Amino acid sequence: MKRISSLMDGYRLFRSQTFPAQRQLYRDLVERGQSPRVMIVACCDSRVDPATILNTRPGDLFMVRNVANLVPPYEPHGDYHGTSAALEFAVTGLEVEHVIVLGHAYCGGVKAFLDGLYGADAEPQYRFITRWMSLLRPAMKGLAKAGTPHDADDRQRALEQASIVNSLANLESFPFIQARLKAGTLALHGAWFDIERGLLLEYDAESGAYTPLEAD
Ligand SMILES: [Zn+2]
Repeated sequence: MKRISSLMDGYRLFRSQTFPAQRQLYRDLVERGQSPRVMIVACCDSRVDPATILNTRPGDLFMVRNVANLVPPYEPHGDYHGTSAALEFAVTGLEVEHVIVLGHAYCGGVKAFLDGLYGADAEPQYRFITRWMSLLRPAMKGLAKAGTPHDADDRQRALEQASIVNSLANLESFPFIQARLKAGTLALHGAWFDIERGLLLEYDAESGAYTPLEAD
C-alpha cells in the first residue's frame, strides 16, 4: 500500500504541475498526432528508464521494453511478436529516423541466462524468461569464440554488451529496416547504461568498443 500511495503522490504532482505546464504539448500531440524521431528498445528493468536518463518529453520517444532489451530476428511466421510489431509500426508507420537498443548493467534477464549455463540449478526457474532469453545464444556463441571472461561480473557485462550488438544485427534482418538503411533514412544505435555511475556508453560499430557518450 505504501508503494501505491507514493504513486498517488506522484500522480497528484503530475495533475497539479506537470500536466498544466505541458497542456499545450499534449494538445498538439493529439491534434497533429505523434511523430517521434527515435525508437528505443529498452529493458523492463525499473532502474533503467530511457525517458529519465535522456530527460525527454511526451512525444519524443517511441519505446518498447522487454526482458533484456532483445530484438528477435525477422520471423514473419512466428507466434506473437510484440517487439517486432512495435518495430514495424515505428519504422513503417511513424518513419522514425533512429532505432536505439539500450542495454544496461546488472540485467536480471542476462543473469538468468548465465545462471542457466553456469549455475548449479539444472532446472530453470522461469518458464517464459528461459525461452525468451534463448535469443541470447548467438551472442553467447560469439563471446565464447572471443574468450568468455572468467569472472562472473565481467562475463555478465560482456554478454550484456554483446547482446546489444546481436540485437542490432537482428534489426538488420527486417526487410523494412534494410530498405531504409540502404536509403539512408534510418540509423541504428547501441548503448549500454552503467547504473552506478549514471553513464551511457555508446557502441561504436567500427571499433566494436563501448565508450562513454559525451554529455556536453
Ligand atoms: Zn535488463
